[in-house]
Amino acid sequence: MKTLSNKVALITGAGSGIGKAAALLFANQGAKVIVSDIHEGHGKEVLEEIKKSGGEASFFKCDTSQAKEQEALVQFAMDTYGGLDIAVNNAGIGGPLALTGEYPLDGWQKVVDINLNGVFYGMRFQIPAMLKSGGGSIVNIASILGNVGTRFSPAYVASKHGVVGLTKAAALEYANQNIRVNSIGPGYINTPLLTNVLEPETIKQVESLHPMNRLGKSEEVADLILFLASSNSSFVTGSYYPVDGGYLAQ
Ligand code: NAP
Repeated sequence: MKTLSNKVALITGAGSGIGKAAALLFANQGAKVIVSDIHEGHGKEVLEEIKKSGGEASFFKCDTSQAKEQEALVQFAMDTYGGLDIAVNNAGIGGPLALTGEYPLDGWQKVVDINLNGVFYGMRFQIPAMLKSGGGSIVNIASILGNVGTRFSPAYVASKHGVVGLTKAAALEYANQNIRVNSIGPGYINTPLLTNVLEPETIKQVESLHPMNRLGKSEEVADLILFLASSNSSFVTGSYYPVDGGYLAQ
């Protein structure tokens, strides 16, 4: 029996990076996966990869910063598979790099809309669906920057701290209704979110911030997401788990 046999799982931002790795792993572990992304082309590529390897999946386009689209995504899961067991609220952006006193106002709004409001909108519709299915597990993707600060990314740091707090609040509310809610804190991971914006020299510096002296891999993050999504973590809720090569131990 595979870890996620018969489970219905939706993953936002699953067209790339961490979300893609989680979608491939979940499908490999027997889940029916709803691959969701704002970028239809990337999402459909992931869908094809899952189908080629014999997994079961569907694609649904969703901009997580739009509550109506999140509602439609959950409805799609219910209509297609008759329930929702697992949700991974993963879609996120880095946003502009600037000092707080000079931060672009529209950049702040966009980061908060996707990284924080997007997680709330997700849970707002996922939780009622999970209650109907008899329970579930939600994994919210925060960051090491949901636990500590850094310079030049005030919107990202604030939004990720918000995700950690929101996760705890929801976990407490639904702990006795069989819905578990956890967040994770990846260190710097080798995905397009990072490699598209940083010069190779800067990436070297970023690697050295981790005691393991390297970036993490999406697959290493996906393994933790799988643990929290599955019944292997049945007594875990309201927690924040780093996966960071030792970053937060310093
Ligand atoms: P990624 O490779 O850029 O993948 C993110 C995916 O989300 C992309 O396919 C992106 O589409 C999509 N997306 C962007 N805005 C969206 C929206 N409004 N609605 C739905 N989908 C949207 O990034 P990643 O590194 O895997 O990041 C995934 C999550 O991990 C994020 O929450 C990020 O903050 C978090 N995280 C990443 C790192 C890291 O170092 N990489 C570290 C800690 C935490 P487009 O490509 O079209 O924009």
